[in-house]
Amino acid sequence: MEIEDVRSDLTEVLYTADQIEERIRQIAAEIDHDYAGLDLLLIGVLNGAVMTMADLSRALRSHCEMQWMAISSYGSGTASSGVVRILKDLNIDITDRHVLLVEDIIDTGLTLSYLVQNLKNRHPASVEVMAAFRKAEAIKRPVDVRYVGFDIPSDFVVGYGLDYDGRYRNLNGLGILAPAVYS
Ligand code: 5GP
Repeated sequence: MEIEDVRSDLTEVLYTADQIEERIRQIAAEIDHDYAGLDLLLIGVLNGAVMTMADLSRALRSHCEMQWMAISSYGSGTASSGVVRILKDLNIDITDRHVLLVEDIIDTGLTLSYLVQNLKNRHPASVEVMAAFRKAEAIKRPVDVRYVGFDIPSDFVVGYGLDYDGRYRNLNGLGILAPAVYS
C-alpha cells in the first residue's frame, strides 16, 4: 500500500518507502561491520517488526539466523498499557549467542526493557537492539539502543509494520495517523 492510498488518514508523512530502505541499508552495513566473524542471531518482535526484519536481514551481506517472539503491547488502542506478556517464546537456546533484538518502534521503552532483561537472563554472549523508529519520549530514558533508524515525534504513527487496529501495517512508508481515525 502506498502513502497516496491513505493520504487523507494521515496528518503528516514522515518517511517514504525509499527513505526507509536507504536508512535500513546503512544500518545493515554497520551491523555487517560490527558483527564481522560473529554468529549473529536476529530476534524479531512480532508483529510490528516484520517489515524491519525482512528488509534488514536481506540488506545484510553476511549470514544471520532469524527467530521471532510475540508479545502483547497496545491491543487496539493508541496508548501504552505498560503490560508486557510473552505470547510466543523462542524455540531455541540462546546461551552464548550474539543476539540482536529487532524492534519496530520504541515509545516508552517499557516493552524493550522487559525483553532485553528477559533475554539477558538466558545468558547470551551479547544482546543489542535495533529499532526502526524511536519516539522522543524514549530518548529521555536509559534504554540502550545500538541502532536506530529514525528519531520521530511522539505522535501515533502507522505504516512499515505498525498498525492501528490491524490496519496500515502494509503501508510502505510511515505517517502520523489523523486523530479523527481513532477518536
Ligand atoms: P513501548 O513499550 O516502547 O511504549 O511501546 C512499544 C510498542 O508499542 C511497539 O513495539 C509498538 O508495537 C507499539 N507502539 C508504540 N508506539 C506506536 C505507534 O506510534 N504506532 C503504533 N502502531 N504502535 C506503536
